[in-house]
This record gives sequence, structure tokens and C-alpha cells, in this order.
Amino acid sequence: MKHVLNQLVQLQELNFALAEHRATDPEARLKPLEESIAKLMEKLPADVARLYNRIQRNNPLVVAPIMRGNCGGCGVAVSSGTANDIRAGKEIFTCQNCARFLFYEEGLPRQPQKPAGPKRPLGAGIARFSDVNLMVPKLVAKTREEAITEMAQLLAAQGFVENPDTLVELALRREAMVSTAVEHGLAFPHVRNIEGGSLTFALGMKSAGVKFDGDGPSKLVFLIVIPTAASAFYLRLLAGLVRTFSAADARAKMLKCDSPEAMWKTLTALTRQHIQ
Ligand SMILES: [Zn+2]
Repeated sequence: MKHVLNQLVQLQELNFALAEHRATDPEARLKPLEESIAKLMEKLPADVARLYNRIQRNNPLVVAPIMRGNCGGCGVAVSSGTANDIRAGKEIFTCQNCARFLFYEEGLPRQPQKPAGPKRPLGAGIARFSDVNLMVPKLVAKTREEAITEMAQLLAAQGFVENPDTLVELALRREAMVSTAVEHGLAFPHVRNIEGGSLTFALGMKSAGVKFDGDGPSKLVFLIVIPTAASAFYLRLLAGLVRTFSAADARAKMLKCDSPEAMWKTLTALTRQHIQ
């Protein structure tokens, strides 16, 4: 049954990618994604596919990782016997409380219990999701992998994640599925199912751009870590950032900043309207 579970995990990633593209770039690349999703759906056993569709109607998170013995979707405890069977890939299991499919993945990146960074205010726009210390005015990186690595190391150095290497690996795996670069030189590499903490991003800039895929180079790169519980909310953040930076003058103002402080001030002002 392990292959069915793998298909479910992949299906969920594709559905998230579809939602991301709908939120950011309504014209772009929907068809190939929809086709891949339909193909995967056909391969699933009929009862599993039915359950998948039913859960997805209510919530985008259908397949949840087991985290510290609990369902990553609803937080209810999973018995250690069931957890072991899931790890062994014997059967498909669903959470008894929320009915999500459960999977087990070693070494998912975690956020520290208490981020070392300054405590972020609640209900204060972009400050809920990032920090002046996560702004990089000039990325040293020349490639996509280097850019993701540079920002992952910053997130770790500032105490926002614990294992940057896994973060890089998972972000690249996500990029390999379908690029997170969108129009206007923006890219949103990300990792889902981060354990604990809150939705957080680092922003790196490079005026010459970093190549993410076949499109033009990405000049504003947001590396985003997404706790399981914030899966739906993440799409709203993404849409807000895209709305902000689809304006050419907003991008120009941002790219002019030459210090983290200037970036943070500009980002806060520019996103005020679109991210509450
Ligand atoms: Zn659950």
C-alpha cells in the first residue's frame, strides 16, 4: 500500500500547486497540472479517490503527516501501533477524528518551540509572517539552489527553523514538481508540513535575478515555511504578495533598498493594503 500513500502525498502536492497557481497567476500552467491530477486520481483505488475528494471539499489538507504521535491535521493522538503500521506502509490509515489520510515522514523540518527572533505582534500585517532579520538585500546566490540554501541558512541562523539542509532538499523537491516562479520576477519556493511555529518567510533580492525555470529570472525570492495547520492561510499570504508586487513601481521601490532595515520598512508600507 506504500505506493498508494505515495500517490496520495503527490496528489495533495499537485492540488496545492494548482491552488497556488490559481492564487498567483490565473492564466498560467493550469492545464498540465490538472491533467497530472486527473491521471493520479485514476490510478487510485476507487474508494480512496472518493474519500480524497470528499475531504478536499472541506479543506485543502487531505493527507497529514504524523507529528509527535499526533495527526498533523487535527492534533488528535494516533496510537503507536497504528503509527508503526503506517511507517511500515502496510495499509492506508485515516485519522479517526478528522478522516485525513495519515503518512509518516522522517526528519520533517521543525521550528523551535520558541523562536529566538523577537516576538512578532499579532494582527499586524506583514510583521506576522516575517522579520527585518529575514530580509536579504543582495543575495550572493547565482542559482536557484544557492538562493534557497542562502535563505534557509538565514532562517536557521535567526532561529526560525532547526534543520536548514532538509528545508533545502524539500524546497528543491517541490520546485522539481512544478516551478514556484510566477510573473513579474517573483518566486515563492516553499516547504510544507513544518512542525510547529507559524507561517514565516525570508525575502531575498537579486537585481540580476536568479533563474527558477524557463521564464525570466526571479528578482524577488520568498522562501516560505508552512506549518501544516497554516496550509489554507498560506494561499492568502501568497495572493497578497502577488497583488502587491504585480505593480512595477512596487517592485522598483523594493529593489532599490540596500539594507534589511530599508527592505523591511518598504515591504511593510507596500503590503499594508493587501496583507492585513
Ligand atoms: Zn486528524
